[in-house]
Amino acid sequence: MSETQERPATLSRPLPSPAVSIETKPFWDAAADGRFLIKRCKSCGQAHWYPRTYCPFCASGDTVWEESPGEGVVYTYSVMHRSPTGPYAIGYVTLNEGPAVLTNFVDVTADELKIGMKVKVKFQPTEGGGPPAPVFAPA
Ligand SMILES: [Zn+2]
Repeated sequence: MSETQERPATLSRPLPSPAVSIETKPFWDAAADGRFLIKRCKSCGQAHWYPRTYCPFCASGDTVWEESPGEGVVYTYSVMHRSPTGPYAIGYVTLNEGPAVLTNFVDVTADELKIGMKVKVKFQPTEGGGPPAPVFAPA
């Protein structure tokens, strides 16, 4: 792809290595393989984010991991223009399965990012050699 002269920088920022716990290790192991997992409750049927052992809706411990395509829409976002590593944006994505995910947006400029935009998960390497972290880019 050839760069045009005045195209603004796409949003991005370095991400710290995630804190991996026993509860979230399956998620990070899958992330290292490029797979996005969410949790679903077998008692009430609802999917939730972030992954927890106990369902946040009905407190059941009968929750299972489920692979998600990681597709959804931008619910809201905020662009940070003043950053030593360049502009970046964080916000919420509403997954097609229902849960809202707090995330960073990438591969998009501040002007292009819009509420309601269809986005898809991808994994960004993190600092310190930890597993990659989920971020969202235009679908
Ligand atoms: Zn439940």
